[in-house]
Amino acid sequence: MPPDAAEHLFSMGLESLMARHEGIRVEGAKSSAERFDCDVLIVGSGYGAAVTADALAGVLDGRTGQASRVWVLERGQHYVQGSFPARLAELPGHVRFTTPDNTTAQGVRTGLFDVRVGPDVCAVVANGLGGGSLINAGVMAMPEPQVFEQAAWPDALRQDAALLRELAQGLSTRLGAQTCPPDQPRLAKHAALEELAGALPGHGGTFKSLPITVDWSSCQRCGDCATGCNHNAKRSLDKTLLASARRRGASLVTGASVQRLEALSGGRWRVWIEHTNPLLAAQTDQAFTVRARRVVLAAGTFGSTEILMRSRAHGLPTSGRLGEHFSSNGMCSPPCTGRPRRSMRWPMSTRPLANARWAPPSRRWSICARPT
Ligand SMILES: Cc1cc2nc3c(=O)[nH]c(=O)nc-3n(C[C@H](O)[C@H](O)[C@H](O)COP(=O)(O)OP(=O)(O)OC[C@H]3O[C@@H](n4cnc5c(N)ncnc54)[C@H](O)[C@@H]3O)c2cc1C
Repeated sequence: MPPDAAEHLFSMGLESLMARHEGIRVEGAKSSAERFDCDVLIVGSGYGAAVTADALAGVLDGRTGQASRVWVLERGQHYVQGSFPARLAELPGHVRFTTPDNTTAQGVRTGLFDVRVGPDVCAVVANGLGGGSLINAGVMAMPEPQVFEQAAWPDALRQDAALLRELAQGLSTRLGAQTCPPDQPRLAKHAALEELAGALPGHGGTFKSLPITVDWSSCQRCGDCATGCNHNAKRSLDKTLLASARRRGASLVTGASVQRLEALSGGRWRVWIEHTNPLLAAQTDQAFTVRARRVVLAAGTFGSTEILMRSRAHGLPTSGRLGEHFSSNGMCSPPCTGRPRRSMRWPMSTRPLANARWAPPSRRWSICARPT
């Protein structure tokens, strides 16, 4: 879909933003009076960005008494119902990737999937309006309380874990997460997992369904959540927080790849942007810049780090630890067919299972199932 095709919905392509706001300059061109193009510029449109945009859109600026200008810049496209890949053969047309030998994005730069092939670990993240919510499983599981007791978290988070939990619960509700209602059909694997939980070693396990961000009455049980829902059943962020932010005045801009930040005087920022689409980028061989009073970097694990690293290469001071301390999430998907077998071993020592937990005090297994 060309970037502008989504404009009648509620996003706009970068070129439309440029046409509408004369303040955006092609770097090197003579610019007129110094002024700021937006108050808050949010980079990315996944969970971090959407929560921020929703919180700030429509908020009055104390200086001017007018609503703050909030811009969300997303490098990917706006996906509408029916535009997600539906067959395996369609997937290659939706993939951008990097390899250990070439860290410049290859493949389809506007593609839904951003695949990072590393020498030891490979990762997949999303590229589109709504970020990871477009391709994730939408499971809204609350972290165990002890997660926030770990010293790695900032004090502010650790000191009021109860408030954090309350806010997270509220957010989960706003995102539309719910467990499968009793009157809705369940998949055979739901029963299989329940049976498996009962057959686990020790004193058996507990089994519970988890809330997911799906409208159960529209869900086709096709399992295509991870390639984008073509049935309008998944409550991805473009349908929840981003739509809400747009209604209250935020500008959602797609096809805009943020390159780097430059610190200006007075705590302001100059943000360097390129078209994601290489054809559009080739037509404008200079970078665009936008000035912002505040910048919120919410471009995901890779995106935000890369922007900071590119900024550092142009002189922005950053922490010396930037780019360090990464790990993958420890999930694995054991195949589960027919009757559960006692010989099935869960790799407990590395605790890689997000959805199966061994709780030593009670000596019980807990298996959380996502029913589709
Ligand atoms: C297949 C899969 C299944 C998952 N299932 C679950 C689950 O069930 N439950 C759960 O809690 N978590 C799940 N996750 C993880 C969850 O989706 C992520 O933790 C979450 O999306 C991270 O949010 P974020 O805001 O940090 O970044 P993202 O959601 O990754 O959003 C970052 C956005 O920034 C954009 N961006 C990047 N670089 C730039 C740039 N330079 N300029 C402009 N925009 C940029 C990206 O295109 C992207 O849209 C899953 C993830 C995947 C991949």
